[in-house]
Amino acid sequence: MSIAEINHWISGAEDPGHGERRQEVFNPATGQVTGNLHLADREDLEKTLAAAREAADSWAEVSLSKRMAVLFKFRELVHAHVSELAAIVTAEHGKVLSDAAGEVGRGLEVVEFACALPQTLKGEYSDQVSTGIDVFSFRQPLGVVAGITPFNFPVMVPLWMSPIAIATGNAFVLKPSERDPSAALLLADLWKQAGLPDGVFQVLHGDKETVDGLLTHDLVDGVSFVGSTPIAKYVHETATKHGKRVQALGGAKNHAVVMPDADLDLAADHLSAAAFGSAGERCMAISVAVAVGEAADELVDKVGERARDITVGDGSQEGVEMGPLITPASQDRVRRVVTEAESDGAALVVDGRDLVVEGREEGFFVGPTVLDRVKQEMSAYQEEIFGPVLAVIRVDSLEDAIKVINANPYGNGTAIFTSSGYAARTFKRQVTVGMIGVNVPIPVPAAQHSFGGWKDSLFGDHHIYGPDGVRFYTRGKAITERWPEQNEASNASLNFPSN
Ligand code: NAD
Repeated sequence: MSIAEINHWISGAEDPGHGERRQEVFNPATGQVTGNLHLADREDLEKTLAAAREAADSWAEVSLSKRMAVLFKFRELVHAHVSELAAIVTAEHGKVLSDAAGEVGRGLEVVEFACALPQTLKGEYSDQVSTGIDVFSFRQPLGVVAGITPFNFPVMVPLWMSPIAIATGNAFVLKPSERDPSAALLLADLWKQAGLPDGVFQVLHGDKETVDGLLTHDLVDGVSFVGSTPIAKYVHETATKHGKRVQALGGAKNHAVVMPDADLDLAADHLSAAAFGSAGERCMAISVAVAVGEAADELVDKVGERARDITVGDGSQEGVEMGPLITPASQDRVRRVVTEAESDGAALVVDGRDLVVEGREEGFFVGPTVLDRVKQEMSAYQEEIFGPVLAVIRVDSLEDAIKVINANPYGNGTAIFTSSGYAARTFKRQVTVGMIGVNVPIPVPAAQHSFGGWKDSLFGDHHIYGPDGVRFYTRGKAITERWPEQNEASNASLNFPSN
């Protein structure tokens, strides 16, 4: 099988770059190397940022209606390439094709939100705040912004950022995950086909060295980051110290509370989809079920049945519901945590550690796993496992369930399954989590709302996409103006002007 050279995208074209460092890219379902990724060096970084700076100045002057024409065209092109994008995602990430197409769909929603920018960005006006004086405010682009993205959504997360950054008049440099970098290049090509001027959207591949270059470079005005908590914290601290605006979204440990009055079949269906979909490699995956009172026994039985029924295999093949993990290191981590949980006293209801997929023996697979009677002090609870493992914690009351969730350092998403409006309302008001689902396990907000967690799941003041995305990629100006009649008395005074 041939191994593809994976280049950067600089100034509107693929560019192998100057850097000599390379990294292998794998198909996680087969374990085979499929790509040879070019990692940027300092010269590549300088070249990309110089092009971005130049492009940002002219793109910011392009009229809103012309920018929107590009956005509308881009929307059509992404729509027409959903299958192609999904196939690239599946080949390098491993998730099943329908799930990969779903991530493109969720990214498209943000493109569509960005198409409505003339409405969102129209500013505010106060007439006659003082005699003959009006005040208005509007927003302008930051300039050059970088997007540093994780492996688990190689299309959706870049589309959480770039459409809004570009629509608002910035130049955007994407540093994709080095594990599944190819989809970024198709996005770059689609932006070009949509008529975006060269240098407004660029792709620079790399690892920590490239990220550090972006975080500290004078030409970068803003940084959007999505990834694990330790790196999010580091990115926020480093880029902030270098005077940049930063939003850094981190990891998660998402709990779903199941009340005894819930429809347990519905809860079990949704819990297993949310825990095992995409092999649990979603920042909004449900990794902990908090079973309240008598819900527990039946819930564990039902979730166990569903977990055993899931077809695991190569995500590009028909009928497969769950693919592999991203690397052998992820596979080892998941197996280790499950082994530790068992020796710490958790009950192993379904064990996916030894799963072997026929014909894909070298793939990085772990099967769906259910752990019951997990305690807060176990590593299976404390770590973000980021694999197909559902831990069940048993508690006596809703109050205890909320205590467990609020004691957790993460606060990305959570859900409650119940038929009681009162329980749902109490839950919504009391949990210290940014995104909450009621009988909805993965409450990723629609594109016209912003996405973001609390506590260690987000560093910075802005959530991502939606109205917060527009605020993040722009800065405000407030104008106070007077147009006096000819020869009007000036009435200037040394006192501080008041209305
Ligand atoms: P990661 O933190 O390892 O990598 C994210 C990005 O940071 C990549 O582009 C990578 O190249 C870069 N990076 C890695 N190590 C670095 C270092 N030492 N210094 C500078 N840059 C570095 O995350 P991942 O494994 O690719 O993605 C999974 C993680 O992302 C999970 O923790 C998941 O919860 C999180 N995530 C969060 C959200 C959210 O919205 N909060 C969404 C998706 C994923």
